[in-house]
Amino acid sequence: MPDIQDSLDRIAADMAGRMDRGEVAHYIPELARVDPARFGIAVALPDDRVLSAGDSTLPFSIQSISKVFTLSIALGRLGDQLWSRVGREPSGQAFNSILQLEHEKGRPRNPFINAGAIAVTDAILAGHQPKELLGEILRFVRAAAGDDDIHINHAVARSETATGHRNLALASFMKSYGNLINPPELTLGAYFHQCAIEMSCQQLARAGLYLTSAAGTPRMLGPDRVRRINAIMMTCGHYDASGDFAFRVGLPGKSGVGGGILCIVPGKASVAVWSPGLNKQGNSQLGTEAIERLASDMGWSVFGASHTANPD
Ligand code: GLN
Repeated sequence: MPDIQDSLDRIAADMAGRMDRGEVAHYIPELARVDPARFGIAVALPDDRVLSAGDSTLPFSIQSISKVFTLSIALGRLGDQLWSRVGREPSGQAFNSILQLEHEKGRPRNPFINAGAIAVTDAILAGHQPKELLGEILRFVRAAAGDDDIHINHAVARSETATGHRNLALASFMKSYGNLINPPELTLGAYFHQCAIEMSCQQLARAGLYLTSAAGTPRMLGPDRVRRINAIMMTCGHYDASGDFAFRVGLPGKSGVGGGILCIVPGKASVAVWSPGLNKQGNSQLGTEAIERLASDMGWSVFGASHTANPD
């Protein structure tokens, strides 16, 4: 098995030379300004080491990766009651699709598509002010990462608030079916701010360690819940490309339109990668490729180890 650091260095060097990097997210104006040439990757290990390459200390917008943390908080707080509000089946639809929501009477397919994540945020917001909930989300993420220097980028949150009409449609639609407790604007205010949390690859990789369930990592919620979150990451974490990610990488992962991906190697490691250019499903184009390479180099897969360079 090659050395992790060697693999990261080779991957970062290869990615630096790529011309076709995908498209940065344009529908959130602040994200459209991010330099598509950035690339960072980090691996956090249960023994406290963090290995990295490229722009691994630069903070980026975690966007939908925040949905893993709010799901963790919601399961910790509400337990299985949460599943009355949201399902746990892959959607096979774009992350912001409205189509299924009408067919399924306002109950989103899973907690990682936008509608599902908005329902989760709404559930944990109930009885609190958005500021209090955002404080709780930040405390959770900082404790998981063991790092207090993690913040919300308010310009990104404002930018999405000004342009997030589709999310407002999803929230209003759920409200009409009685599947939203708070006013749509209030829940979305919290949702846009959780998405605007910024972390570096090194911070994000550390923050994911609790999902590896490895000895010595922070215990943020019970092991059964951690296993289930991993299952949902595997089946739903990349929207309508979740099957392809499972096929290519074989690990639970969650992407965000900021170009980040958090990927869990159960019992072994937590990986974060960032490359702002997205593929047409809204997942980081080079980030996906980088994790595929790293997993293949290391023989990391929940389906059994493999050391074949080109498994196709
Ligand atoms: N804030 C983004 C949105 O709601 C998150 C989407 C994503 O990262 N896939 O559109």
